[in-house]
Order: sequence, then structure tokens, then C-alpha cells
Amino acid sequence: MEFIKQQPSSKAPADWFTGDVWWDVIVAGQQPSRMRANLVRFSPGARTNWHSHVLGQTLHVTSGIALIGTRDDTILEAHPGDTVTCPADEEHWHGAAPDRFMEHIALWEGRNDGTAETTWAEPVTDEQYNGPRTRNQ
Ligand code: MN
Repeated sequence: MEFIKQQPSSKAPADWFTGDVWWDVIVAGQQPSRMRANLVRFSPGARTNWHSHVLGQTLHVTSGIALIGTRDDTILEAHPGDTVTCPADEEHWHGAAPDRFMEHIALWEGRNDGTAETTWAEPVTDEQYNGPRTRNQ
């Protein structure tokens, strides 16, 4: 076994995110592994654009308050220790609450043929972002 050489933190591109977001790659598996895991940090109010993942995605909140929204106007409010999964091709967004930093681990699978595993769309509007939330029971 060996340590994985960690890359510097990356600033999330403004084309895909609103507000300040940074990520660290935890692991990007070498083929035939398709393992992907990033630690992602969102500043208050920051969020992804609408997007979907070809093989779905699982989000595990480690700090702060996460908001995860879908096109049916559902917004899940997730707290540290909560895990939310999005099925393949379901459009969604994730981000921090307006008044808290948020950190989550994003887990998903790449593709062996090197084609895009995430499809990006337009930014989440303030109206969409500020919709009613559902808490974990
Ligand atoms: Mn996602």
C-alpha cells in the first residue's frame, strides 16, 4: 500500500457553480476502477448549477448544513452524518445554506471510455434555492 499523492485544492469553475466552492480529490480510481470521491467545501449561499451524473451520486455531509434540490422543487436539508443519494441522470443541485459553510464528500463513478460523467446545466436561481426544505426524519 501507499499514500496517494494529494493534488492542491481546486477552485470550482464559475461556469458550473454560484459562489465560492473548493474541492480536494480524495481518490480518482485508475481503470478499471471507476471510483471517484471529492471533499467539497461551499461558502455560505454557494451551490452547484443544475446537473446530473450518468451513474448517480451519493453525498455525505461532514460539516454545516447542506441543501440538495431536484426539479420537482424538493429541497432536502442535510446535516453532518446525513447521506443523500441521487439516481442516475436525475437533475439536481447541492450547496450550503445561506448562513453556513458546508462540507460534503461526493461519491460517484467515472466512465471507462473517458466521456463526460456529469452533465451541467443552468445556475440555480435564488427562488429555487430559497424554496421550502424537507428535513431528515
Ligand atoms: Mn451532483
